[in-house]
Amino acid sequence: MAQSVKGTRDLFGGELDWFQRIEDTVRRAFHRHGYSEIRTPILEEIEVFKRSVGESSDIVHKEMYDFFDKGKRHVAMRPENTAGVVRAVIQHQMLATSDPQLLYYIGPMFRYERMQAGRYRQFWQIGAESFQVSTPESEAESLVMLYDFLRELGLTQLTFSINSVGTPECRPAFHEAFRAFFAAREAEFCEDCHRRIEENPLRVLDCKNARCQAALEGHPVLVDFLDPASREHHERLKEILTTLGLPFEENPRLVRGLDYYTRTAFEVLSTDLGAQSALLGGGRYDGLVKQLGGPQVAAFGWSIGLDRLVTLMQQLHGKAPRQAPPVLIPLGPAATLKALELARAWWAAGLEVVLETRGAKLKNALTTANRQGAPLALILGDGELEQGVVAVKDLAAGTQEAWALDTVQQRLLDRR
Ligand code: AMP
Repeated sequence: MAQSVKGTRDLFGGELDWFQRIEDTVRRAFHRHGYSEIRTPILEEIEVFKRSVGESSDIVHKEMYDFFDKGKRHVAMRPENTAGVVRAVIQHQMLATSDPQLLYYIGPMFRYERMQAGRYRQFWQIGAESFQVSTPESEAESLVMLYDFLRELGLTQLTFSINSVGTPECRPAFHEAFRAFFAAREAEFCEDCHRRIEENPLRVLDCKNARCQAALEGHPVLVDFLDPASREHHERLKEILTTLGLPFEENPRLVRGLDYYTRTAFEVLSTDLGAQSALLGGGRYDGLVKQLGGPQVAAFGWSIGLDRLVTLMQQLHGKAPRQAPPVLIPLGPAATLKALELARAWWAAGLEVVLETRGAKLKNALTTANRQGAPLALILGDGELEQGVVAVKDLAAGTQEAWALDTVQQRLLDRR
């Protein structure tokens, strides 16, 4: 029997309930802020990712689902969505005026990852990107949207971890100081860090190796090398977060290692499940649109793993609060015809009702309704039809009463 491909899974039932609930919350929260959804293709030319995420990154280097299609085009299933969104805003000249573009996405991403708990080869991300807004106020607006959305999901133990990675202009002086620091204790760093110090010194700062982290004690700090405008930007963002009551801490080792990142880098940390963990990250990437062939414009964004968020919701809240609808059980052909008419009117009124259509015997129909967790069974037999009522059985209490047919719709509406 065929099975789903390794690293992919079917979403249904309780897990999907949470996906939908989070997606609904996201859309409402983001639309309130004036963000519009963008849906880019899952397939992109591989160059889009090579030129943005970068050939040396693990994502492109080891984890890409890439292949040559029948037309011999080298394509990849997107491992993330910022590159695709940037490609789209350039392609559709969405940056032709200087107006801000506030966009969000929700969708599946693909990475050929080593299998481990909570990591999938097809997983989902939610992300927001804002273009042509460069102020710390615009970053605060995006962070407030994110924070309030996470709070709406019931996450309360949240802290922003923030840093500034400056601009390409102020980084050489930092690199010089940092390389000198590294050289003085290079034996303490891992092999990867020896490569990183040559290729991209910032990446040494977020090495996962505990020995390297210990060796970094007292390292030169990026914010000390910021140009005046970047420093002012960073200070202003902190001032706004303080005023708005968004908890944050500065983390001088938090970096987004690629060249196109500028100024603000951040993560959201949560202790909602005990040990502190990073929920998501993002930052300013003023260099990326140009790098992908567009104009030089400011950009800021972040993305969060939806699968991870769903697991968190299940651990925190258990099942998504979802009430199964009542079941309408007609007995016999005449009642079934009437039931179809009634149900149609109720559906049109916005009610959720499941119609028993199998022609099942009452006992079987009630067993099914119970298994599905229906709160009520509305039973319509020839006797009820004659009297103009429906027999309403409360499946939890086991009690039964008769409701006049012309009152059922309102009584069901009142129960919601
Ligand atoms: P990244 O693009 O690696 O910074 O990840 C952004 C978000 O996507 C994080 O919240 C991750 O938890 C999530 N994520 C990344 N890769 C996977 C994966 N293979 N399976 C599930 N979630 C993932």
